[in-house]
Amino acid sequence: MAGGGLAGMAAALRLEQAGIAYLLLEAQERLGGRIFSQPVAADDGSGVDLGPTWFWPHQQRMRRLCAELRCKVFEQHVAGDVLYQQGSAQPVQRSDAGQGMLSYRVEGGTQSLIAALAARLDPAGVQRSCPITNIAPGEDGWSVSATAADGSEPRQFRAQHLVLAAPPRKLLQIAGLSSCLPAGLSTALAATPTWMAAQAKFVAVYPAPFWRQAGLSGQAFSRVGPMVEIHDASATTDTGFALFGFIGVPAGVRSRHAAGVLQDACLRQLVSLFGAQAATPEVSYLKDWAQDAWIVSEQDIDESPRHPELDLSRWLPQLRRMQLHLVGSEVAPQEGGYLEGALGSVEVLMRSPELFS
Ligand SMILES: Cc1cc2nc3c(=O)[nH]c(=O)nc-3n(C[C@H](O)[C@H](O)[C@H](O)COP(=O)(O)OP(=O)(O)OC[C@H]3O[C@@H](n4cnc5c(N)ncnc54)[C@H](O)[C@@H]3O)c2cc1C
Repeated sequence: MAGGGLAGMAAALRLEQAGIAYLLLEAQERLGGRIFSQPVAADDGSGVDLGPTWFWPHQQRMRRLCAELRCKVFEQHVAGDVLYQQGSAQPVQRSDAGQGMLSYRVEGGTQSLIAALAARLDPAGVQRSCPITNIAPGEDGWSVSATAADGSEPRQFRAQHLVLAAPPRKLLQIAGLSSCLPAGLSTALAATPTWMAAQAKFVAVYPAPFWRQAGLSGQAFSRVGPMVEIHDASATTDTGFALFGFIGVPAGVRSRHAAGVLQDACLRQLVSLFGAQAATPEVSYLKDWAQDAWIVSEQDIDESPRHPELDLSRWLPQLRRMQLHLVGSEVAPQEGGYLEGALGSVEVLMRSPELFS
């Protein structure tokens, strides 16, 4: 199996529970893929999210998985006024009519889900820093090569079934895959955007929720930037207090700034919105997903963001006969792009009768 994001890790759990042997190869040193939380403090197990933050009430797969893994969830903090920054020359407006829609967060950061999944897997069944670079169909299954970035000899594996759990455009960079795929599928994969892959997020952690104490929710919307949408990002209801923002500066412009420039601009914006206390976070993080070579592809940076909509159903019978399975948020039958979609795609995998033969 290729890819240790939510889809790959959840697929490994379901295979483990079904008594099916697996080996998950993850390209990066860390697990989680787009799920990425950073510590609130050096000695604190809890984290703030630089990747996905929320799931919503109708997304029952996420709710069930959190319950199964005993990961606590809590409601996104929205109580308090919302701020609007319409222009740099205009005063910030404050409204008590905001109140975002109900959404849920995983306590201690979404990475807690990945940690809980990893704890349930056989450690020998997960190998990190092991990118799949080449595949070829063999006698009864697949030959797989993985080449580490350190230039060491490629490692060879044989697999009866091959499960690919990486964004479709990254899959097409695996040598040998396109030539194996049913007609039309390569083109469809290339046309499928990687959700949020060109985004960047900034998070600042504070000793106290001074915005809440001032009657603010932490929500702000800005036409000034660099952040266009800001939210309370605290790690739990009442610990690890933090604010996060989606950065509105396009990826191409971001890449031309020296390290630290954008981070300083984000802090200045937080001060202009929430006051002087915002100037001195305990720690702050910026994650530019457009720089993450195992997630983003050129086209994701060049195109306007749009939801992935790839209906695999017409290729599914042929893929199953080939013992080749695609999972992941972008190939989900519903909720494409979301964590919920990643879990839905694993359900499709586990309905494959060939896996059990
Ligand atoms: C900034 C941001 C905010 C988001 N906010 C939300 C949100 O609030 N709610 C929500 O539901 N969703 C959100 N999303 C989307 C959500 O993160 C994804 O839907 C989900 O994490 C995708 O999981 P996945 O396992 O399908 O793919 P990924 O997480 O992309 O995992 C793919 C894995 O494959 C690995 N890989 C790639 N190529 C290879 C290879 N050749 N060999 C081996 N491994 C390989 C990668 O390193 C990666 O670990 C957000 C995403 C981002 C970036």
